[in-house]
Amino acid sequence: MRTSRSTLQVLSCSLLTALSVGCGDDKAGVDTSEGETETETGTTGDALTTTTPTTGEDSSTGEPFVPFPARGDVKIVRVEANPSVAIPIGLDGAAVGGPGRNAFIPKGRDMLVRAFVDVPDDWIERSLEARLVLSGGGVDKVLTQTITISQDSYDNDLSTTFYWGVKAVDVVPNLKYQIELWEVAPGAEMLPEPADPAIAVLAGPAFVGVESSQAEMRVVLVPIDYKFGTCAAVVDGEAQRKAFEDALYQQNAVETIEFTVRAPYPVTYSMTAFSGLSKLVSEMSQLRTDDGADPNVYYYGLFDNCGGCIGSGGGQSGCTVGLAADITGPDKTDARYRASVGQLNNGGVDTFVHEVGHTQGRRHIECSGAGVDAAGTDPSYPHADGRIGIWGFGIRDFKLRHPTAYSDYMSYCGSTWVSDWQWNATYSRIKTLTGWGKSDAGAPAGSDGALAGDGVLIGAVDPDGQQIWWTGPGDLSSGREPSATHRVIFEFADGEVETTTQVSVRAHYPTRNIVARLPPGFDARELLGVRWVDESGEHPVAPSTIRRLHGPNRLQAAH
Ligand SMILES: [Zn+2]
Repeated sequence: MRTSRSTLQVLSCSLLTALSVGCGDDKAGVDTSEGETETETGTTGDALTTTTPTTGEDSSTGEPFVPFPARGDVKIVRVEANPSVAIPIGLDGAAVGGPGRNAFIPKGRDMLVRAFVDVPDDWIERSLEARLVLSGGGVDKVLTQTITISQDSYDNDLSTTFYWGVKAVDVVPNLKYQIELWEVAPGAEMLPEPADPAIAVLAGPAFVGVESSQAEMRVVLVPIDYKFGTCAAVVDGEAQRKAFEDALYQQNAVETIEFTVRAPYPVTYSMTAFSGLSKLVSEMSQLRTDDGADPNVYYYGLFDNCGGCIGSGGGQSGCTVGLAADITGPDKTDARYRASVGQLNNGGVDTFVHEVGHTQGRRHIECSGAGVDAAGTDPSYPHADGRIGIWGFGIRDFKLRHPTAYSDYMSYCGSTWVSDWQWNATYSRIKTLTGWGKSDAGAPAGSDGALAGDGVLIGAVDPDGQQIWWTGPGDLSSGREPSATHRVIFEFADGEVETTTQVSVRAHYPTRNIVARLPPGFDARELLGVRWVDESGEHPVAPSTIRRLHGPNRLQAAH
C-alpha cells in the first residue's frame, strides 16, 4: 500500500562535507570548490575577528580584497535547523524562543542549518559569503558558504539558500548561532549600507535550542528463517541492517540506535495468511521475554515470504505487510508489546518504521489517498490530510522531503516521512525508555529488567479463532481500564479464581490482546484449566498449551 518514495532533491555528498556520515571516502574532506569551508577559531576573543576570511583580489589595483558586511538591503529572513524536520530558529532578524518552536532538537545528532534571504527589487546579482558562527557549550567554530544570490531564497531549491551540515559532535546543549552575510568581491562598495546589518540574530548570538536529554532506541532485528509450501527464504539480517537502521534513525529524534541483528528464528507456518502474521507477532513478544531483553528493547521480526500477499481477512483489504503487538503503553511492564513484524519486500523499511511506531504508542494518521481506511486514527494530528506539513530532511540520505508531497509514516498514504508532530510524540517516549538504562552485562538472562509484579497471563485471540496463550513477567498496564466484558477464570485443584482483564486490539488485524494477573501462589498451585469469558460465552484453554515465561525458572519449563 505504499509506493516508492520520490526524491525532490538529493544533496550530493560534496555539498555537505561537514556532515560526517554517508559520504564514503569523501567524509573527511572539506570541499572548498563548492564554496563551503569550516574554520576552527581560536579559543580567545570574538570568533568573528579570528576567522580567516575568504580572500579575493581586486584585479584593477592588485590590492587584496578585504571582505565587508553585505550591502544593498539583503536580509536573512529565516534560519532553520533540520535534524529531520524543519524547525525555525530565527525569523525576521529575531530568535525563535521555546514557545515558538514546533519540534525538539536532540543533542548529538547531525543536522542541516539553512538560512533564507530576501533581496530588494534593485538587487544586483552577486556572490555573498554567509558565516555561521557556532558558540557556547564548548563549541567555537565558524562554518562559511559562498553562493550567488540572484533572487529571494525559496524552500524548494537548496541552492537559493545558504546551508551547512552541522556535525553531531557540535550539536550540544547551550549551543548558540549567529549568521552574517559578507561581500566577497569588489563591486558593492558604492551601495548603501543596509538599514539593519545582514545578521541573524540582530540582538546577538541566539540559542539553537538543543535538548540536554539522552535519547537512544534499542532494537533487535530478528531475521526469519522461513519454510512453508514452495517458499524457503532466510532473511540476511546483516545485509539489511544499514537500510533498516538508517530508516529508523532518520525518522526518530535519537542520538544513537543500539541496533542488534539476532540469530535467525525459524518459522514453518504460512506467512501469507493473517493467522501466521498474528502468530509471529505473538512469538516475537515471547522471544523478547525468553531472550531476557530489557524493557526498553524493541523486537522486530523481518520475513521474506517470496513476495506473497497477506490478503483479505479479518475485515482487511489489500495486502498487509506488517503487524505490531499493540499500540504499546509507556511503562516497563508494557515491554511484552514492544514487538512487531513485517515483510522484507514491498517497502520493508517503511513498514519497519510504521510498526515500531505502533509499539512506541503511535496510532494511525488519517489521509484520503490511501485507498483503504486505516483503523483507529489519531484525531489530534494537526496537518491537513496526513501530510508532514513541514520540510523533512534525511541526515543520512541527504534528501529533502516536501511538506505536502510526503505523508506521516503512521498514515497509509504514498511516500512517507516523519512529521514534526510525530517527531515530538515519539521523542517523549524515547526519553522515557532511554531513562530506564541498560541492565548489567552480567544480569541473568530472562530477568526482563526485573519487572515489578508477580506475572500475567497473556492471550492473543484472532478473529478466525486462533488463540495463543503464554505467561510473562510484570503486571497489568497502568494506563488501561479493566475490560467490562472479558474475564479469565483459573481452575486450580484447590478452587477457582476469577480475575478481571485488560483487553486491547491490534492495529491492521483485530487480534484481541487479553491480559490477566496471575493469581497469588500460581506457581505452587495445580492448574487444571483456564477459561476466558467474553460477550459470547466461556472459552476453554488447555493448561498444556500455555507457554510459561513469567518466572526465572521458565527456561526449565516445558515450552
Ligand atoms: Zn499500522
